[in-house]
Amino acid sequence: METGLIRKNVEAILEGLPQNVELVAAAKTRTTSEIEEAIEGGVGIIGENYVQEAAGAFRDIGHKVKWHFIGHLQKNKVKKAIEIFDVIETVDSLKLAEAINRKCAALGKTMSVFIEINSGKESQKSGVYPEDAIKLVKKIALLSNIKVRGLMTMGPLSGDPENARPYFSNTKELFDKIKKEEIAGVTMDYLSMGMTNSYKVAIDEGANIVRIGTKIFGDRG
Ligand SMILES: *Cc1c(COP(=O)(O)O)cnc(C)c1O
Repeated sequence: METGLIRKNVEAILEGLPQNVELVAAAKTRTTSEIEEAIEGGVGIIGENYVQEAAGAFRDIGHKVKWHFIGHLQKNKVKKAIEIFDVIETVDSLKLAEAINRKCAALGKTMSVFIEINSGKESQKSGVYPEDAIKLVKKIALLSNIKVRGLMTMGPLSGDPENARPYFSNTKELFDKIKKEEIAGVTMDYLSMGMTNSYKVAIDEGANIVRIGTKIFGDRG
């Protein structure tokens, strides 16, 4: 991409975001120098889908930004993941939460996590079904080295962002419902939803974290 464009893209996106909404730069397949340019533009959170890929960028960039894991986390990658990430956005089972808890306990760490909601109930997708979410949150809340701080959802992908709206609004309803439960140790601070083509709709529906890749870095090759 033309030099300076990534930076300009970030600046333009940040300019248009409401005060309370945080931008995650979804960095899969991007080089460290592309990520650095996004950071120069004002990005404070990098989202990574693969632990191995993140490890390379993290080695160069380190803690000057926050790192969010937004992919599907395999249990054999948990140990490495908890060394890098500030938030794991995609916890969707008790087993995964227990694995994270165990590794964190060994390091004396507490990991902030979001629960990934499969808002479209798509069998091929990750995430807990909405109706099973509260039960899962209550179980994870008992793990002492994990703190549930919000929800994340993708929603079914579609050309028209309006198609995503009901999935976002249902996830916001679930977010409010969990908040009302006042589960000990659980705070519903963050609702992560919306990508390049859907983030404006997501913000309308209550997202306070948006995860944007293409609109920052250009099309993935
Ligand atoms: C790639 C990715 C994004 C960003 O997608 P774009 O359409 O490129 O903005 C957001 N969230 C997750 C989980 C992703 O994997």
